[in-house]
Formats: sequence, C-alpha cells, structure tokens
Amino acid sequence: MVKVGVLGLQGAFREHAQALEAAGAEAIIIKKVEQLNEIDGLILPGGESTAMRRLIDKYDFMEPLRQFAQAGKPVFGTCAGLILLAGQVVDREEPHLGVMDITVARNSFGRQRDSFEAALNIKDIGEGFIGVFIRAPHIVEVGENVEVLAMHNDRIVAARQGQFLGCSFHPELTDDARMAQYFVAMVEEASKKPV
Ligand code: GLN
Repeated sequence: MVKVGVLGLQGAFREHAQALEAAGAEAIIIKKVEQLNEIDGLILPGGESTAMRRLIDKYDFMEPLRQFAQAGKPVFGTCAGLILLAGQVVDREEPHLGVMDITVARNSFGRQRDSFEAALNIKDIGEGFIGVFIRAPHIVEVGENVEVLAMHNDRIVAARQGQFLGCSFHPELTDDARMAQYFVAMVEEASKKPV
C-alpha cells in the first residue's frame, strides 16, 4: 500500500486523509519536515494560500517541499494547494513552490458566487464529478507539457503535468472517490519506478 501525505498545517487536510484511505492508500498527515521521507506522494490541501505559506515558512517547509516535488514524487494541489504549485500567480511577484508550468488567478469566480458546486467532466477520471468551489482559483494559462483535464465556464479547473496534478475545487468534500483514486494510481505508478 502506498503512503500518501497531506500537508497538515492549515485547511481541509483531514478530509483528504479520509478520501485517501477510502481510495486504498495509507494517509499520513504531515506536520513535520522529516515526515516527508516516509511518503510516496503528497497532497497540498485547500484552505488559504497566504496563511498556508506563512506556516510553510515558519516551519521551514519550503525547500524540502520543492525538493520532494522535484524528486519526481507525485504532488496533488487542490484549491489553495493549486496556488502553491503554480509557476506563476497573477498579482504576485514570486510563486510559492512554483513547480508546475501554469499561471493561476485567485478568487476567480466572483463575490456573489463565493462558493458553488458544478458537475464536471474530467478527462481520464469521468463525467459528473461534483466540483465544490470555495473562493476558488482558476488556471489562466498552461505550458505545453501540461494537459488540461477539466473546464468550467470556459475556465481551466483541473490539469496535470507529469507527476503534478492540480484542481481549483475541493474533491475531498464529496463522497466521490474517483479523483483520490486517480492520484493514488499516479503515486503507485511513480513508486514502481527506480529512483
Ligand atoms: N482563495 C483561497 C486562496 O487564495 C483558496 C480557497 C480554497 O482553498 N478553498 O488561497
């Protein structure tokens, strides 16, 4: 069974851990840098990206997280986690981890629609996946090696680039395990490759 970590500094990390267990992985909530050595893949959860970044800096997680991502281990960023992965964030000089070749804009879906649900067709995952969007970002632009997996209202809301997976919404807040299963399969695949 693969071990998948969920960064547990802020946000919806417990729900992700439950979804991972339902998808057949061992879930480990990551609170200390050393725990990154125990896991085969990592989820950066939704929450609030600037608050999460403050805690990442406070606990010296930034460089170890970058190294983890650059070592070829799968990383899945959801909502605020997507913002952390992005190579560029609109209106921000420097990215956070900056490992995925995408540009994201924060809080993209307007004030009146702070939070909403929409049925999505997600490539390789399936149709009718209910996306829960909470002050969600969207992907404005993708690099040539990035595959767009889902759109909502002409906006990119899920994408993959090799070992990196990102989405605007909160897949862990529904009972639909397909997205967690897809990520667990990515982690299983990557853990078979020789390092
Ligand atoms: N708007 C939040 C941010 O900028 C993300 C919201 C979420 O993760 N649900 O971090």
